[in-house]
Amino acid sequence: MIQDYFPIRGEAVKLDAQVMKRIAPLLRAADETRDENQLRMLKAFTSCGVAARHFSGTTGYGYNDDGRDKLEQVFAALTGSEAALCRHQFMSGTHTLAVALFGLLRPGDTLLCATGTPYDTLHGVLGLTGDKGGGSLAEFGVQYRQLELLDGRPDLTAIAEHAPGAKVLYLQRSRGYAARRALTLDDIEAAAGAAKAINPDIAVLVDNCYGEFVDREEPTHRGADLIAGSLIKNPGGGIAPTGGYIAGNAGLVDLCAQRLTAPGVGGEVGCTGEMLRSLYLGLYYAPGVVSDAVKTAIYASALFAEMGFEADPAPGAARGDIITAITLGSPGRLRALCEAIQAMSPVDSFAVPQPAPMPGYDSPVIMAAGAFTQGSSIELSCDAPMRPPYTAYLQGGLNFAATRAAILCAAKAVREVR
Ligand SMILES: *Cc1c(COP(=O)(O)O)cnc(C)c1O
Repeated sequence: MIQDYFPIRGEAVKLDAQVMKRIAPLLRAADETRDENQLRMLKAFTSCGVAARHFSGTTGYGYNDDGRDKLEQVFAALTGSEAALCRHQFMSGTHTLAVALFGLLRPGDTLLCATGTPYDTLHGVLGLTGDKGGGSLAEFGVQYRQLELLDGRPDLTAIAEHAPGAKVLYLQRSRGYAARRALTLDDIEAAAGAAKAINPDIAVLVDNCYGEFVDREEPTHRGADLIAGSLIKNPGGGIAPTGGYIAGNAGLVDLCAQRLTAPGVGGEVGCTGEMLRSLYLGLYYAPGVVSDAVKTAIYASALFAEMGFEADPAPGAARGDIITAITLGSPGRLRALCEAIQAMSPVDSFAVPQPAPMPGYDSPVIMAAGAFTQGSSIELSCDAPMRPPYTAYLQGGLNFAATRAAILCAAKAVREVR
C-alpha cells in the first residue's frame, strides 16, 4: 500500500482509489496491447533465431558482427520492415533523424512536413532558425515546405496538393512539447496514402519517437517507408544506455547507413563492444515498459483531471505517444509538481529541480528526471517552460506501482500550494 511507505493520507487515498476504479478498463486495454506486442516480440526473437553468442560484440571496424546483424534482423521483423539499423552509434533521436533526412534528401529536393512545426531539436537540422548555416539541410539546398495539422490531423487535401515534386513526406507521430495531439496509426496510414496516390515515389518518413509499442503495430505496418527513433525512449525498454534506430524499406535504410558511416561503406561497419546484450534485453522488455508508461499517463491524466486541471490527452482518448500535458496555471504548482516527481525518483531523489535557461527556449525550463540513464525519458520525467499557462509535460515510467505513487504524491504537493 502506498500509505505504508509514503505520506499519503485520507483524501489522497480516496482519490487514488476512485481514479483507479474509473481507469480500470483503460489499464486492462493497455495490458492487452502489451501482450500483443510482447508476443510479436517473442515471435521476432524466435523466428530470427537469437542465440547467446549474438550478445558478444566486436571491436575495431566491426566487420561480420553477427550480433549486430541479428539485432537489426529482429528489429526489422518486429516492425514489418525489410531492413533496420539499430545501433548505439546513434547519439540521440535528433542524430538519428538527421541521419535519415540527410540519407534521403539531396540538393534541390523538397522535404514536405505535414505535422506542423517539428520537434525543437530538428530546427537546426532543417535550418528553420534564422541562421541557415551550420550544415543544415537548408544550407545544402534542400527545400522545406510545412503543412499545418487540420483539426489535429494531417491535412490530406494539402498533402495531395503538395506531394507532387516532394521527395520525402515527414510525419512526427508524437506531440513532442507542442499543443497538438499525437498521430494515430490511422492518421499515418491516411497521410501516407494521400501522398502516394499522387506521388508513388515519395518516401514517407515518420519520427516515431515516444510512439513505439503504444499501439499494436508500428507505422511501417501501415504505409510508412521509414521510421526512426531513440533507444533511450520507448524501444530501449529503460535498459539500452544509448542509441537509435531506423527501419523500413531496404533501399532507404541503406541510404541512411551510407550517411551514418561513409558512402561506399554503409552498415557493414560499426563495432558493438559490450552493447549488444543491453540492446537486445531492452528491446525485449520494451512492450512491458511502454505499457507501464502508458498506464502512468492514463493515471496522471485521470488524477489531475479529477482535481480540476486540464490534462491532455484525456484519460480515455486514443493515444499515439506516452506524453501527458498537465496545465497547472501557476509557477508555484508547476515547481511543486516537478519537485515531487524528482523526490519520488529512484535516482537523485534528494535533488531539487531549479528552473534554468536552455538553448532554444525563450523562458527558463524546469525538469525532473531521476533516471538510471541520463536524459532517458522512458523513465518517469517531467519538464516545463516556466511561463503561462505553466504546462508540465510528463512522460515515461518504468514501473506503474512506483509511478502511481510518484504522481499521487505530486498531486498532493500541487494541492498544497497556489
Ligand atoms: C525526443 C524527440 C526527438 C529528439 O530526440 P533526442 O533524443 O532528444 O535528440 C525528436 N522528435 C520527437 C517527437 C521526440 O520526442
